[in-house]
Amino acid sequence: MRLVLVGPPGAGKGTQAQFISAHLSVPQVSTGDIFRANVSQGTPLGKQAREFMDAGDLVPDDVTVAMVHDRLADEDARKGFLLDGFPRNVPQAKTLDGLLLEMGTVLDVVLELVVDDDEVGRRCGHSWHVDFDPPTREGICDNCGGELFQRDDDQPETIRHRLEVYYVQTAPLVGFYAEQGILVGLDAMGPVDDVTDRAIASLRPFSRT
Ligand code: ADP
Repeated sequence: MRLVLVGPPGAGKGTQAQFISAHLSVPQVSTGDIFRANVSQGTPLGKQAREFMDAGDLVPDDVTVAMVHDRLADEDARKGFLLDGFPRNVPQAKTLDGLLLEMGTVLDVVLELVVDDDEVGRRCGHSWHVDFDPPTREGICDNCGGELFQRDDDQPETIRHRLEVYYVQTAPLVGFYAEQGILVGLDAMGPVDDVTDRAIASLRPFSRT
């Protein structure tokens, strides 16, 4: 299956990406994770991306698209993939359609994680301490089931800016994919496992294997 996950920062996208890709046995391609790995290794790509990430802005499309192009050409992504964090604007979505066309394929489904605006804010509100006040399940907030981060770009100002960037640049993807008839909305509120179960159930009709 070729699948894209879309949803605002704090919706639990990374957590669900992990569970869903494991269930479908397809590689998880998370552009944010790939960028972060490059930043921490100090690669040329990481150096190009860092200032944009720290500011909560999008990394320029040419840099991002080249990276995704290379990743999707890898052997393990030939039979399917779960893209998380890409595309993040309509030009990237159009480029992705073109890349897939070249590969002789198309996207099967785009899953939109739908959460209340309030919930996104609230999920970002509670902090846990890795040593002194750890959550029961590593990386997941006990309060709300949202994913936890430990990142340089987690300053409150940057979080707010990333949300703005989401609503201005990324949210239009919902209409773009609805027009293509491949958008599925997923209620992403509530316990993580329930959301995963609902996600898997809603993807079943799109499975070709
Ligand atoms: P979150 O899940 O919190 O929204 P990600 O981990 O997906 O954030 O991404 C972190 C940062 O990496 C983004 O704020 C952005 O700077 C950069 N990034 C990730 N994916 C893309 C993309 N498709 N296009 C441009 N920049 C991206």
